[in-house]
Amino acid sequence: MTEPELRAGEIAAPLPDRKDAHLTFIGRIRTPWSDRSQCPRQGRQDGPECQLVLDPPWEQALAGLEDYETIEVLYWLDRSRRDLVVQNPKHDGRLFGTFALRSPQRPNPIGTAMVRLVSIDGNTVTVRGLDCLDGTPLVDIKPDRCAFSPKALPKAADSTG
Ligand code: SAM
Repeated sequence: MTEPELRAGEIAAPLPDRKDAHLTFIGRIRTPWSDRSQCPRQGRQDGPECQLVLDPPWEQALAGLEDYETIEVLYWLDRSRRDLVVQNPKHDGRLFGTFALRSPQRPNPIGTAMVRLVSIDGNTVTVRGLDCLDGTPLVDIKPDRCAFSPKALPKAADSTG
């Protein structure tokens, strides 16, 4: 289900014959959407419930996550082209560089979303706010901030005047 065709004006580049890192997916995401025509372009926190289903041994890594209302989910948009440098996202002739877009078609197709945590039951985290196809591989989960995040600088310290 990878997008096969270039749209008008789109440019694909040959991918380098090199691998720089190795990912291990930590689970899969269950969503109501099996094709792109149904899937939202960006999730909304009042969207439908979706499940992050973790593989062993990652269930233990959820300890403490229940304290957060908003969490960040990183996922691998596995049905994407990875060679587009210029894209025509709306089929309307307007062209944009890949890094000026949040398109799923990118060299390392990582999607991110800030989602609302609904519940955690064993290895399954239920959230609202996703925008990926059913079965999308899960890369990581993080709280929006955590106990060890530095606090924001007070406004006065930001001032250059
Ligand atoms: N929220 C993420 C972000 O901003 O990084 C992803 C945004 S991307 C525009 C969402 C779109 O990616 C969906 O509407 C769908 O067309 C496409 N998509 C969703 N899951 C995908 C997958 N597993 N592989 C390829 N494309 C996917």
